[in-house]
Amino acid sequence: MSPFAYVAVGRPVRGEFTYAVPEALRGKLQPGQRIRVPFGRSISLGFYLAPAPEPSPEVIKKLRPIERILDPEPAFPADIVELVRFAAQHYRYPLGEALRAALPPGLTKADDGKQAKADVTVFARALPAAKLEELTRAPAQHATLSYLLAVGGRVQVEEVVHAIPGAKENLKKLAARGFVALEEEQVVKGVREGLQQSRPDALTPEQAIAVDTLTKSLDAGGFAPFLLHGVTGSGKTEVYLRLVERALELGKGALILVPEIALTPQLVGRFKSRFGQVALFHSAMKDRERLLHWQRLRKGEVKLAVGVRSAIWAPVPNLGVVVVDEEHDPSFKQEEKLRYQARDLAVVRAKQAGALVVLGSATPSLESWENARKGRYGLVTMTRRVDDRPMPTLELVDLRLERPRTAESRGTEPPMLSPSLRTAIAQTLERKQQVILFLNRRGHSTFIVCEVCGQSVRCQDCDVCLTHHASARQMQCHYCGKASPMPRACPECSGPLLELGVGTERIEAEVVDAFPHARIARLDRDAASSAEKLTEMLAAFARRELDILVGTQMVAKGHDFPGVTLVCVVMADSALTLPDFRAGERTFHLLTQVAGRAGRGKDPGRVLVQSYNPEAAPIARMLTNDYARFSEEELKRRQQLSWPPHSRMVALRIEGESADLVTRVARQLARVAAQHLPPASQGVRILGPAPAPIARIKGKTRWQLVLKAPTHAAMFRTIDALERAIEEVPNAVRVIIDVDPAAML
Ligand code: ADP
Ligand code: ZN
Ligand code: ZN
Repeated sequence: MSPFAYVAVGRPVRGEFTYAVPEALRGKLQPGQRIRVPFGRSISLGFYLAPAPEPSPEVIKKLRPIERILDPEPAFPADIVELVRFAAQHYRYPLGEALRAALPPGLTKADDGKQAKADVTVFARALPAAKLEELTRAPAQHATLSYLLAVGGRVQVEEVVHAIPGAKENLKKLAARGFVALEEEQVVKGVREGLQQSRPDALTPEQAIAVDTLTKSLDAGGFAPFLLHGVTGSGKTEVYLRLVERALELGKGALILVPEIALTPQLVGRFKSRFGQVALFHSAMKDRERLLHWQRLRKGEVKLAVGVRSAIWAPVPNLGVVVVDEEHDPSFKQEEKLRYQARDLAVVRAKQAGALVVLGSATPSLESWENARKGRYGLVTMTRRVDDRPMPTLELVDLRLERPRTAESRGTEPPMLSPSLRTAIAQTLERKQQVILFLNRRGHSTFIVCEVCGQSVRCQDCDVCLTHHASARQMQCHYCGKASPMPRACPECSGPLLELGVGTERIEAEVVDAFPHARIARLDRDAASSAEKLTEMLAAFARRELDILVGTQMVAKGHDFPGVTLVCVVMADSALTLPDFRAGERTFHLLTQVAGRAGRGKDPGRVLVQSYNPEAAPIARMLTNDYARFSEEELKRRQQLSWPPHSRMVALRIEGESADLVTRVARQLARVAAQHLPPASQGVRILGPAPAPIARIKGKTRWQLVLKAPTHAAMFRTIDALERAIEEVPNAVRVIIDVDPAAML
């Protein structure tokens, strides 16, 4: 056993470090193990990677020893270490930090780590013996007991702690006095289970072919990437379920990645009722729940994991199949720290594990579509809905002709709901069926402008317009979250304000006005402020306790509501003009997905799309349900401009308080890039530096520098040089490297 070890340190520092292995630890180190190491002036969490060769004598003199091994069994299985290593390299992020970020909470500090036990919640209950008057000399305990009595005598300890800092200690003291009992209670873990669905006996002919093709690859073993292109309602989930069944039969593990919003009780229920044990990973889970689920996988007690993008790091044992559902969804890209794309890593992970990977969508990303076209991925297609239910009919409502022009009152726009929309909604309600109204903007009005001087009301810290939220009686900035009261008149000239740009709140108000007897709810980030509320609203809609749901893209994702027969896109154009080369693709995806919510039950569906730009390709192709033609044209356009997937991109995001300094750093980095370009034949191009489309957020000036090349490898040298240059950038400016960036704003 080598007395030297390669170690990754769980700090934002680049590179691997060599440490000395003390006699007592030799032969005990395993790759992926968490260790304690001295680093700088403190102690840090580290990860043992591999034995290191003997360094030079001068280096040996300065080597520091590993202090201690933190877990007897490595926290990471070898395959996850390999995956994180790939991600750290590809996304240019320090390996130790990346490893730390891949661990569940509870294992991320330089200690032995928590052992998550059965999932219990502690309640505090006031006992009959409790007497407030005996606590006059203990004001803190008095306050705690008063709170407890005020909320009914029994409540979760966590809630008391939230209300009264330091309540935990007080409760212990109160318990010692015999005033309070602390009671442990088992709680249901994770997302609440949805309706139990039975396993259909017969697959549709297309499902049967899909399952057959994919199962053959699974049985054969080895890396096999597939794109499953199945129209909305074609029964993709059942295909995934069958693959998981087969993998488990073979003694293999399965990993299912879904977008955050799709991880509803409905989907979880389908997996749980079929397989019993499922490890779940999503953002609404408590830390110890996540740790518990992670440990169950690690111990091999559970072999199936279902989760959002971070589940890509789940230690599924003996991986047989990876599924990425709704693979086009932007939520698979992490937009902070290690900026990974979980869909891409799913393919890498499957390749490393020799597993089947299935990317499923009704509207595949152009990246995956191109891979399938070029034969790099197998393609399985499902063109029909389950039970041969018809696809919904798609109809255009041309707002240029159909939007009423008479303003009902001064200071507002004419209504957004055209007569055709109103008629369709009324007919649907009459038939006791459900309606979804989709608009991708929150708030009441998204653009407030003075009728006299023309000034728009903007955020002082961000380069964006403020949104009026009527229910909260505020104007809010959607970038920094700052809120202020809605002014009665123009702050500049006291002129009257005009509210333009429609948001979901205003649509809700219009619908309530037009259909006073309908049961209506709004589903957006304001109304569904927590995971519980979101779950409850979706469940209420599924139980048909609501007639109309007005919402943002939250209503567009994978939901299966058989009662919905009418979907209205209130304004298809809202995302079309964003200064991002993917704006068209996003619009097409979103519209197709939301249209796909209609007619999933026994009654046929109808989709009305209101637009000012019906000739724009994403809207025109969506209206003819022509994914193939849209992708064909969009790929051609991207090729002409050499945008991804016809090129690879790396974006540098440069931001800081001082506009001058940010500008200077951006220009300096651009010079560095220019000096370190490979020969022109490699095709690396520099775009910018230029102010970002949103040039200021939270008071910080933002610039971008973008590299574009036919391959990642062509850019390596340039990025290496940029990385070195970034280390010299003053602390007042932050520079982030975003490899394969998703959003260009
Ligand atoms: P997709 O994800 O492709 O939009 P889903 O997987 O949600 O579609 O399936 C749509 C509906 O069809 C669901 O209610 C599902 O339970 C049902 N379903 C799927 N496969 C079958 C089948 N073979 N027989 C009957 N019903 C099915
Ligand atoms: Zn004004
Ligand atoms: Zn702001």
